[in-house]
Amino acid sequence: MNIVDLKKSLDFREEGQEIYTLMAGLYPICRSITGNGYRETMEALRRYIPVEIHEIPSGTKVFDWTVPKEWNIRDAYVKNSKGEKIIDFQNSNLHVLNYSTPIKGVFPLKELKPHLFTLPDRPEWIPYRTSYYEENWGFCLSHNQLQRLEDGQYEVFIDSTLEKGSLTYGEIYLKGEKEEEILISCHACHPSLANDNLSGVSLTTLLAKHLGTISHRFSYRFLFIPGTIGAICWLSRNEPSVNRIKHGLVITGVGDSGEFTYKKSRRGDAEIDRVACQVLKHSGQAYNIIDFEPYGYDERQYCSPGFDLPVGRLSRTPHGRYPEYHTSGDNLDFVQPQCLEDSFRIVLGILEVLEENCVYLNLNPKCEPQLGRRGLYNSIGVDAMAMLWVMNLSDGLHTLLDIGERSGMSFEIISTAGHKLYEHGLVEKI
Ligand SMILES: [Zn+2]
Repeated sequence: MNIVDLKKSLDFREEGQEIYTLMAGLYPICRSITGNGYRETMEALRRYIPVEIHEIPSGTKVFDWTVPKEWNIRDAYVKNSKGEKIIDFQNSNLHVLNYSTPIKGVFPLKELKPHLFTLPDRPEWIPYRTSYYEENWGFCLSHNQLQRLEDGQYEVFIDSTLEKGSLTYGEIYLKGEKEEEILISCHACHPSLANDNLSGVSLTTLLAKHLGTISHRFSYRFLFIPGTIGAICWLSRNEPSVNRIKHGLVITGVGDSGEFTYKKSRRGDAEIDRVACQVLKHSGQAYNIIDFEPYGYDERQYCSPGFDLPVGRLSRTPHGRYPEYHTSGDNLDFVQPQCLEDSFRIVLGILEVLEENCVYLNLNPKCEPQLGRRGLYNSIGVDAMAMLWVMNLSDGLHTLLDIGERSGMSFEIISTAGHKLYEHGLVEKI
């Protein structure tokens, strides 16, 4: 079975549901850029796919960065003077400033306040905050709750550790006919956040699961890494072989109901950029194409000038453009199986084009061959038009993707026409 057959055989509705179910299972885990929550997440993925788990010791130099200490947390709360837990990590892991150092003490509200984080503009949501590279402790809560806090003494407890350990990431390599690779990367370092994090992780997991069952031209490498530092670690450890990466995609934020957004690679004209545009254009979905900018997710590292890899990013609403972003509003109600389903279809469509793109050579280049005699030209419709385009541009210089772009027709129609001409001996593959 190849990717074309796979795409035809899948029940995408079921896939969307399954991606959602996986997300729901991962949602409660308290993840960070290091620690047991990350390991637990990778272990959960191993029920679907054979993720290889890597551990990079704290203190390891990776380009200009250093792998941080490992953070783990068991419990955290703030109690009021009556002894009632008013902020409780057990209710939401977003309540703790991610990477908080341990603390135990009693503080008056005035001293506690600099350690409390809220969103005055969205007073009902808990913000998601981190302090990875500067030691601090703190709690996140809704602004409404902060405003209700009375003066008095508060008992603060954070049962965490920040010590030498390691950074964990997951990787899968699927060998294809060629050594050339397609890289699919997602970040898995956020705690209970659904769209920004788990939508990409879960979709990528199901994608890897299915690609593991078929034959493919390209080799595939899937990375489940902590944002920024994980990509930097991976690039630092794999520098000699990154030139095998011919196409790449960062996948994140694919579960909301917003329009698709494809962010081009730094090169701007890489094949992945053209393919993503072509697939979205013919998908029937609303979409935007945006140019590369050096801010965003891990495409920042893959597209840094010393690597300049052909890696784009697929999301729906971009990070920071939806109010739920990095808040407790980005939860399991914010993402929908239907949206995950459409996203999965787009990703598979992109990979299908990358896998199937090829160059044909027209064996009858002097005037048109007589298609009617071969039963290929009954009436002029889309299929016949596609055949005319493929024959005309199959001079050995144009790929099927080139022909799709120039004709304005979808890759699928052009590719099907190419196959038909090939079966009738009118073109050969180069
Ligand atoms: Zn994020």
